[in-house]
Amino acid sequence: MNVIQGPTAADIHQVGAIGGGQLAWMMLEAAQRLGLEMAIQTPNAHDPAVINRSPDMQSEKKVILARIADAKATARLAQHCQVITFENEFVDLPALKELETQGVCFRPGLSVLAAVLDKLEQRQFLRSLGLSVPAFAAITPQDNPQALGFDFPLVIKSRRHGYDGQGTFILRDEVELQEFWQRFESDPTDIAQRFMVEAFVPFERELAIMAARSATGEIALYPVVETYQKQQVCRWAIAPVTLPSPTQTQIETLATKLLEALDAVGILGIELFLTPDDRVFVNEIAPRTHNSGHLTIDACATSQFEQHLRAVCGLPLGDPALKVAGAVMVNLLGFETAQSDYIEKRQRLANFPNAKVHWYGKADAKPGRKLGHVTVLLESADRDSAIAVAQQIEALWYPDG
Ligand code: ADP
Repeated sequence: MNVIQGPTAADIHQVGAIGGGQLAWMMLEAAQRLGLEMAIQTPNAHDPAVINRSPDMQSEKKVILARIADAKATARLAQHCQVITFENEFVDLPALKELETQGVCFRPGLSVLAAVLDKLEQRQFLRSLGLSVPAFAAITPQDNPQALGFDFPLVIKSRRHGYDGQGTFILRDEVELQEFWQRFESDPTDIAQRFMVEAFVPFERELAIMAARSATGEIALYPVVETYQKQQVCRWAIAPVTLPSPTQTQIETLATKLLEALDAVGILGIELFLTPDDRVFVNEIAPRTHNSGHLTIDACATSQFEQHLRAVCGLPLGDPALKVAGAVMVNLLGFETAQSDYIEKRQRLANFPNAKVHWYGKADAKPGRKLGHVTVLLESADRDSAIAVAQQIEALWYPDG
């Protein structure tokens, strides 16, 4: 076992988190159970990790209202915290590196963020480890994708700051490609560095695995989940997933390899494509808790949020196993622009057998915005039944069923 570099569990009383969205809020709940204090840096006083706290927890020592990339604010956060972690990775890395040299402890370390922040560099890193990734290349409006080796349909991605499918564009033909580039004619800033192209993977299913490594080098892998994305945004996740044994082993091996190669401390969300002939491609890794791990709160012995805190604090990792036969998590995405707490819909969802509603308390609903999620615990591991439950939950939430 490795010796811990930096603060140990006995030293850590307060964890700082950069970002104050629902991931930070759910981490706060886990921190309370572990007897840990948390402080956050977030730009918006209406973010879930601010509004869902009692007023005495909203003092400057607990909430620093500042941009995610404001490293001066992170320096203030560090005055009250023994370790700093991330719910949002869109930080100012060079500025944080200066803080690191001054002794601020970031977990995961900044080298983990550096490897994944730019999707093109992330792909290069994954390929350098020998992992299968979709074919990819940098692309500019002047490039002919066919000459780069990419046929339609193809996928163009923003190299930076993409999330929830915001920076991912599946283009079917030359016309759609031309229309895509036309959007940037009025703003050609950095256009040569902004995008990458990749082969469209005709996957049979999308999978994900949450993988944790603690400051002592201990590793815990969660059960693989199947996720379903509509228009590039996650709609639901189900567990467990029955896979051929070599595929299961391959996924666990790649998750372990990634954690160790990155020297990661904390949890990683690893998104995968599974092809009809059981080949596995890594789509993306996130250096933090992840939407595909939300069902761990209600369905696993240790939630991803508690696990992440355990890992960054150097505590022993918890048991990641499912404690039920199966579970389905359905995102409650905004379907209109409105100010509503959707109390009646939430009540109907809460009445669904074995359902737990997690409502983030966001003031404004917008189409596609993640407003909450529902987890339903299942008495069987049957995939069709789990998908049927996801559809019933969606029918209760979305006005058009
Ligand atoms: P984000 O980081 O915004 O979540 P992703 O790169 O994960 O974006 O892409 C979002 C979704 O788009 C994926 O879950 C998948 O459904 C689809 N997608 C992304 N890349 C590909 C690809 N190369 N082939 C097929 N579908 C893709």
